[in-house]
Amino acid sequence: MAATQQIANQRTASQPLPSQMRELEERSIAAEIGLATRVNDRAVQNRMHAALELVQDYPATHQALAEGRISVRHATVIVEEGRALGDPDTRALYELTVLERALRDTAPRTRAFAEQVVEELHSCSITERHRDAVKTRKVWRQRLGNGMSELGIIGSDVLVDGAWDRLTQQANASKKTQVTAPEDDADADPDAIYDERTLDQLRADIAIDLLLTGGPTIDPTTGTITGAKGGLAAIQARASIVIPALTAAGLADRGATLDGAIPIDADTARCLLAQAPSWERIFTHPIHGHVLATDTYRRPANLDRYLAARDVHCRFPGCRRPARVCDRDHNFDWALGGTTDACNLACLCKRHHTLKTEKPWKPVQQRDGSIHWTSPLGRSSTDPPERYVIFRDEPDPPPGDPPF
Ligand SMILES: [Zn+2]
Repeated sequence: MAATQQIANQRTASQPLPSQMRELEERSIAAEIGLATRVNDRAVQNRMHAALELVQDYPATHQALAEGRISVRHATVIVEEGRALGDPDTRALYELTVLERALRDTAPRTRAFAEQVVEELHSCSITERHRDAVKTRKVWRQRLGNGMSELGIIGSDVLVDGAWDRLTQQANASKKTQVTAPEDDADADPDAIYDERTLDQLRADIAIDLLLTGGPTIDPTTGTITGAKGGLAAIQARASIVIPALTAAGLADRGATLDGAIPIDADTARCLLAQAPSWERIFTHPIHGHVLATDTYRRPANLDRYLAARDVHCRFPGCRRPARVCDRDHNFDWALGGTTDACNLACLCKRHHTLKTEKPWKPVQQRDGSIHWTSPLGRSSTDPPERYVIFRDEPDPPPGDPPF
């Protein structure tokens, strides 16, 4: 990984390129490796950066890792905590001090020790460092499987502690009003709704409720943006749900997805369907399950929706960015005579659209919507369109009129 990053650096160092072109060279190499190893190219690029940092800036740690004297987690701790130190001499002193601890202690304890060492060696006070650190604040999400996701927030200690304390107080106050079901079922009121959520569950429910329905105190859009009536608080959450007809009707329990790709539970999907102001019918091929058309495909405006339904996500090999945040790319360049129809259009995220435009990645679309990609080094990969159905044994629906 470090060697590939060095190759990328060498290829761009020999010519005066703008920084965006250097980044593209690196991305293209990462995508080559990702294609060969079936790993997302963003993950490959991150690993290339981390590997080069370890090899170049922490040689003793790299050697200890190569000899099996410390684990990858120890090495990661040393590199991550050492990033606060810009001066190479100070960093070398830090590395030797912390590595000595890493050789005889666990990774979490090594991290705590490394934080203290950085505090001692750093030329700036915590106040100065916080000014830079606060720029890294962000929110992220991660899929956990089983229809669950994680939402994380990075912010300054004071604000995150304050938010946590408020959630805990609200959850405790809510818990005091909880009505729990009596131990003996015979005493239970059949019409009552008993609340038996734990403190963790209450915190999570209140936090999500606040995020989905609350509004920010500071709203820079007030009175400035047309179409933002009601300000930021009026902006509603969006979710694109694909649900098979039988599941929508409650006759089956499988196949519901978020953005056509992430499996979600049928109860949540049916609940959202019942509240949705509009929805579209998607026709799929009875044999291979590929999308054939949407209800209103003929209108040009709906070509976009058709592509989103067919592609589901970015069509670059290995990428899962949802179609709704993707560009519509002419596989064969429009300026060179490429047509604006479904057979020559595909969803590509900004990153991969730029990569395809700037670097010799060649997509050729087949009649069934598959895209045959050829990389700059001649490696090829075929990306088929998503299937919406998987055939499996399900009980026959009850006789009577079809639900749709
Ligand atoms: Zn992509």
